[in-house]
Amino acid sequence: MIIAIDGPAAAGKGTLARRLADHLGYAYLDTGSLYRAVAVMVLHRNGAPDNVEAATEAARTLDLDLLGSPDLRTGEAGAAASKVAAIPSVRAALTGFQRQFATHPPGNAGGAILDGRDIGTVICPDADRKLFVTASVEARAERRFKELQERGEAAIYARVLQDMRERDARDAGRSDAPMKQADNAILIDTSSMTPDEAFTAALDVIEDAG
Ligand code: C5P
Repeated sequence: MIIAIDGPAAAGKGTLARRLADHLGYAYLDTGSLYRAVAVMVLHRNGAPDNVEAATEAARTLDLDLLGSPDLRTGEAGAAASKVAAIPSVRAALTGFQRQFATHPPGNAGGAILDGRDIGTVICPDADRKLFVTASVEARAERRFKELQERGEAAIYARVLQDMRERDARDAGRSDAPMKQADNAILIDTSSMTPDEAFTAALDVIEDAG
């Protein structure tokens, strides 16, 4: 069983995917962390995230130990991730790992849940279930703003909103694997949902379709 969950930043898909994976006993892969790790490798080497050679080299030699690092969760890493993610050779270098995870989930789990931007369209077009989880840009910026504040990072709402709009435009506007809802994905708009409501809605979709 492969479940693809796509959608823009801060729509709640990570929390939702993790919770679904726990509930169903499936393996979970946050594919955004792969692009974030590539970006952080480039930044650590004082490279520019839009430098094709530097980003491709980092993607080809990706250090999987970086995936759990808190360095990946900063606003800077997120913005840089969306720049490396626009480079086709970076995406190509990360495709095999994601497909292998989906078809052979670790721990012999009975299924895999992958969240990202292009899981239902490019990485796993034959996924058994596809969800597109979104929310208004204002609701997402508000959530991200609170998250940053809780982590003690200095944040200005207007700036977070502007960054969110820029990231959406970059992710949806790139030519290779742009963020978009797959034709057969079910839309869940979490703008006015609690995480519990989003979980129930997603589980309904997954179970109904089965
Ligand atoms: O989901 P997250 O915000 O961690 O993703 C960081 C960036 O990685 C996104 O803005 C997007 O550019 C890129 N990404 C992607 N394809 C994915 C997952 C993430 O292009 N499947």
